[in-house]
Amino acid sequence: MAKIEAPVKKNEYYDVVFEDLTHDGAGVAKVDGFPIFVANGLPEERAKIKVIKVKKGYGYGRLVELYQPSPDRIDAPCAVYKQCGGCQLQHLSYEGQLKAKHKHVQEVMTRIGKITNVTIHPVLGMKDPWRYRNKAQVPVGERDGGLVAGFYQQRTHDIIDMQACLIQQEMNDVVVQTVKNICEAYGVEPYDEATHRGTLRHIMARYGAATKEVMVVLITRTKELPHKKKIVQAIAEQVPNVKSIIQNINPKRTNVIMGDETNVLWGAEYIYDDIGGIQFAISARSFYQVNPEQTRVLYEKALEYAQLTREETVIDAYCGIGTISLFLAKKAKKVYGVEIVPEAIEDAKRNAKLNGITNAEFAVGEAETVIPHWYEQGVQADCVVVDPPRKGCDEALLQTIIAMKPKRVVYVSCNPATLARDLRILEDGGYQTLEIQPVDMFPHTNHVECVAKLTLK
Ligand code: SAH
Repeated sequence: MAKIEAPVKKNEYYDVVFEDLTHDGAGVAKVDGFPIFVANGLPEERAKIKVIKVKKGYGYGRLVELYQPSPDRIDAPCAVYKQCGGCQLQHLSYEGQLKAKHKHVQEVMTRIGKITNVTIHPVLGMKDPWRYRNKAQVPVGERDGGLVAGFYQQRTHDIIDMQACLIQQEMNDVVVQTVKNICEAYGVEPYDEATHRGTLRHIMARYGAATKEVMVVLITRTKELPHKKKIVQAIAEQVPNVKSIIQNINPKRTNVIMGDETNVLWGAEYIYDDIGGIQFAISARSFYQVNPEQTRVLYEKALEYAQLTREETVIDAYCGIGTISLFLAKKAKKVYGVEIVPEAIEDAKRNAKLNGITNAEFAVGEAETVIPHWYEQGVQADCVVVDPPRKGCDEALLQTIIAMKPKRVVYVSCNPATLARDLRILEDGGYQTLEIQPVDMFPHTNHVECVAKLTLK
């Protein structure tokens, strides 16, 4: 078979107009129908690009000159936007970001889900889309004999020191800088990936946005931390509102941040936060949504879509520390939460007690194993809520839902592609997707969260 020649050549220059934006924020230009992905290009912009890589069916280019900037283009406010890579869309106005995310959800629903007759609402954005993250986890390294704490420069493991991250709560910047300075003053050695030596790997700060409580976690390679007592004392004195100082020990050669051993060095094991009137105890290792303001928006939408009247039995699959379950419990007869991480289920039970909620029960296990088992034993839900990780729901779970026939399914998703795939399976099994509400949980990044409402046909 004759090899089809790409219409572009590496290292050549082309004048293009960007037609689209990929979900990770690259501009898409076409040369004779051949797509080229160019970082930093925005739809409708005219530009000169240099082709830097040609693959089968597509290529990559670099933006050389912008002839005609998009009206949606802005100067990225963050000084280290280009080096960091944590945000992908700061060069696009917030309005523009919300439009792009909406278009992405629409496109994926049609292409992957073959779902066309559904209302996809405009993305619910934040009034002030900055300083929203409640958790910072920053690697620690060494430069010129001092400590640096910040982020890995894109595609490298070089640590860039960071004074401010504009999507972090201001308090987290303060905590990271203060803890770094204290550790430096006591001569703490940063961990060195290459030699697997040194002590301090990461500093983690957690902030309860509603309670203003702060947790500091020192993630170390070894249990020993020279001058531990003095360091802890200094953190307790200097970090505002600190309620909990934790050490997590990770002796492994790994990119995974936390290890298995966690010890309280000072104060409480938890800090508290409040979302929509429900209190949550958050431990160092528990999963907790990073944008509490938008989490409330998301959960309220999930609750609305569940249409509960206090008569229903609800299953909350992938329940984490019980956040959605407790939201639903206020309006349901009974809620059953399922989650694979045992510590999260302990947190969920504690959170139920903390809020005086007695109609929620939690089980540890795979949703795709536990729920089929319940079904065999005769458990019948009126509504099933799922909130799976990025890979979506296991097919066995979807088939059990289809067999169990709850009147309503509410699907909360952090990945539109797997949402679309799973909605197709549910639609083929007798459900109809009525509406989808995208929520911007992670402004300036390429992520978008969705809640979908389904009804049994
Ligand atoms: N609903 C929660 C958590 C959502 S994140 C909240 O909003 O906070 C997804 C959760 O699914 C994580 O807590 C993860 O530990 C859990 N999980 C991953 N695979 C699972 C599986 N197969 N069965 C049950 N839970 C799973």
